[in-house]
Formats: sequence, structure tokens, C-alpha cells
Amino acid sequence: MQSIVIVGGGVAGLELATRLGRTLGKKGQGRVVLVDRAPTHFWKPLLHSVAAGTIDPAVHHIDYARQAMDNGFEFVCGDVMNVDRNGQSVTVRRHLPHAASTEIVLAYDRLVLSYGAVTNFFGVPGAADHCLSLDTVAQAEAFRKRFLDRCLSADMARQSLDIVIVGAGPTGVELAADLRHTVETLVRFRVSHSEFKRDVRIRIVERANRVLPGLDPEVSAEVARKLASIGVEICTDTAVAEVTDNAVYTTDGRRFASAITVWAAGVQGAALAGHLGLALSRNQQILVDKHLQTMDDAKVFAMGDCSNIVNPQRRAMVPPSAQAARQQAIYLAGHLLRPEGKRMRSFRYRDYGAMVSLGPFGTVGILLRAIGSRNVHVSGAVAKLAYLWSYQRYVMFNVGTVRMLGQMLGRWMLSKTATPIKWQ
Ligand SMILES: Cc1cc2nc3c(=O)[nH]c(=O)nc-3n(C[C@H](O)[C@H](O)[C@H](O)COP(=O)(O)OP(=O)(O)OC[C@H]3O[C@@H](n4cnc5c(N)ncnc54)[C@H](O)[C@@H]3O)c2cc1C
Repeated sequence: MQSIVIVGGGVAGLELATRLGRTLGKKGQGRVVLVDRAPTHFWKPLLHSVAAGTIDPAVHHIDYARQAMDNGFEFVCGDVMNVDRNGQSVTVRRHLPHAASTEIVLAYDRLVLSYGAVTNFFGVPGAADHCLSLDTVAQAEAFRKRFLDRCLSADMARQSLDIVIVGAGPTGVELAADLRHTVETLVRFRVSHSEFKRDVRIRIVERANRVLPGLDPEVSAEVARKLASIGVEICTDTAVAEVTDNAVYTTDGRRFASAITVWAAGVQGAALAGHLGLALSRNQQILVDKHLQTMDDAKVFAMGDCSNIVNPQRRAMVPPSAQAARQQAIYLAGHLLRPEGKRMRSFRYRDYGAMVSLGPFGTVGILLRAIGSRNVHVSGAVAKLAYLWSYQRYVMFNVGTVRMLGQMLGRWMLSKTATPIKWQ
């Protein structure tokens, strides 16, 4: 019986473990083990809403142990410390709630690496020390606490509060809108005085010449208009030279005061990459071929944000996105489950478009090749539905329709009784 170990239960890893568990694991045809350092899974594209306090991660997470039991795979909670490729084993430091952590070794026949990525500060002086980032639920929660603390103390002292977001990709712009919404909610619930809305300055600094530089220009222009209308200041063509504890300095000599600085401008592979002995890209991502197999080891695969596809045909790059991570997991499940000797097609990324949610201020996006070969721009209710659907479809695949509807109902009831901001 073959043993497949998956490192990292994010968007890609959870989907793959669930697919393999439902087929190999449940039929007793293979052992599937998922390792993650956290006990629960959270859909990362919602982290900006956790940071702004508009979403409580506890009512959105998927419990790995439960998911494993229901879907025929095993779950190990711990940090993968090392991979011994000659011995085909993985060393995991297990986290035990009431005892010292212990190390265990998991043997594998095939190993899939899907441990995601971490923020890339691009060596900008002071950025790693003074910026917050949003790679994990813990970081988003730390941001929320600092943001609410600073809001309340600025409000009491009747002072202004400056927030700088570095990077105008989807994370940066969605975070800016969510923070603005939280400030408005504080005023609406009379936690803050009515002038406070004006006192909070949210500024996005972007090196490219427009917000959302990776997306369609029309979507980008519409988002810029909406952000400007809610008072978010956008500084494009602006590169950051240095970050201190209370300011951001730009390469053209400007200084932006900043009580909270968030870095949302790029990702790179985590430190684990350096211990694997595998070929890496400049950004420390694992290089894989068109079958998502690593260049150095036919038994090791990589997918999602921790990987980078070597692309001799110079096709469009696969972006670090949830959309791409899911497609890779679905592809790899097919690859690992195919009968012996059957030829495998190459992985081909298909871009279906993107939706950008500005919370209550609107949703804007583009559906690529939606009608024949035509792209369709969407906004308003249709865009909001498409945005929600991409998340709910994922939840539905993993936990089933009944549990998904139950969770939605629970959240709706909670929204009718509790404040819309998470305080504790
Ligand atoms: C704030 C934010 C907003 C985003 N918005 C969008 C969006 O709107 N649309 C979109 O398509 N994409 C979006 N993305 C990007 C998207 O979330 C990622 O591309 C996607 O999550 C990558 O999936 P993954 O499985 O590769 O990694 P992840 O989902 O990051 O999962 C990695 C997993 O590995 C685990 N792990 C890491 N190291 C170890 C270790 N050593 N041992 C054990 N476990 C480990 C982590 O705990 C985590 O569970 C956003 C990202 C962020 C941060």
C-alpha cells in the first residue's frame, strides 16, 4: 500500500488530501497523511477581513482532524522540520497542547509539498522589523488587535491615525476597504466619535502605475475610483525606500507618517525550502516541471505558492493565487490516482478571471472567456455573488452542502445578534 505525505493543508493541500482520502484512503488502497502546523484550516483570501475584525476566523475554519476522519486520510499537527529524500521520510515536530513537543518521522512513497509562501520584503530596510504581514491567521489577529487598540486610543485622545498599506494588489485594496468599513462601524455603534472617520487616514503605496497591476485595467480603474470615493489615498509610481516604527520613506524623498504599516507586496518561499536540496527559483520557490514534479526527485511534487513551474514555452506564468492552487491540487490528484502506465497530460493553468471585494463599498471583477471567447466585466450584485461563490464552492467541496448551509445559517444568526466587529 503506497503512502502519500502532503506537507501543508492550505488551499492546495487540503483539497488534495480530501480528494486522495476519498478515493485511496477510504478504499484502503493507500495511506494519505496531511501535515500542517495549525489544527484548523482557514481560507487565506479572507485574511484581510480577519485583520479588519469583520470576520471571526473561528466561524469559518475547517477542523483538520474532523476533515481527516470524514474523508479517509490521517492528520498530523506539527511543523515539518526536514525532509530526508534518500531515506524517503519527513521529520515533524508535533505540537502537544499540554506537554513538550516531540519529533516523529513519517515515511513516504510520494511526497507533496504545499506549504505556501511568506511575505517578501525585498530587502527594504526596516520593512521586516516594522511592518505587519498577513500570511497566517495569527498575524491577521495580531493586526486586528493593534488596529482596534490604536483606533480606540486615537479616538480618546482626539488624534489622527495614519495607516500605510504597501502594495495595491488584491490583498492591499481589499484590506483598505475593510479597514474603512470597520472605522465606519465604530462610529455607527458609537464606540468612536462622529469625526473619527475623518481622522483615520488610510494610504496605499504602490510601485506600479495603477492599483491591481496584475488585473484588467478597467477593473483597476473602477477599484481606484471606489477607493478614492471612500477616502483611501492611493500613491502609485511610488517605491518604498525604508520603513521605521512611525513612518514610511519613499525613494523620491517623501515621508508618510504611519502608526501601522502593512506589507502586502509580494511573496517568497519559506525557509524550509533551503533544507530540501531541491532546485529553487530566485524567490525560494521549488521548481517543478509540467507534471508538478520537482526537477531533482521523481517522488517529490510541489504545488501552490511554494512552487514555481519551469516554463520553457514561455506561457503565461502561474500566479500565486487560490485559483491556481486549487487547479494544481485537482490536477495532481488525477496524476497520483491514474492507473499504472497511463500517460499523463501536462498541467495547464486556466485563468477564469478575478473578483475584488471592497466589502460594503462594492465588488468589481472580470470573468474571462465567459461568453465564448468574450470577457465580461461585472460589478454590483453579480460580482458579489461570483466572489462569494468562489469561496462557498470550495467549502462545499470540502465539507459538503449540508454543513456549508448550516455554517452560513449560523453566521447569519450571529450577525443579527452580535456587533459586526470582533473585539476580543
Ligand atoms: C490576505 C490575502 C488575500 C488573498 N486574496 C486572494 C484572492 O482574492 N484570490 C486568490 O486567488 N488568491 C488570494 N490570495 C492568495 C491565496 O490565498 C494563496 O495563493 C493560496 O492560499 C495558496 O495556497 P497554498 O495551498 O499554496 O498555500 P496556503 O494556503 O498558504 O497554505 C499553506 C499551509 O502550509 C502550512 N505550513 C507552512 N509551513 C509549514 C511547515 N513547515 N510544516 C507544516 N505546515 C506548514 C500552513 O499552516 C498553511 O496551512 C490571498 C492571500 C492573502 C494572504
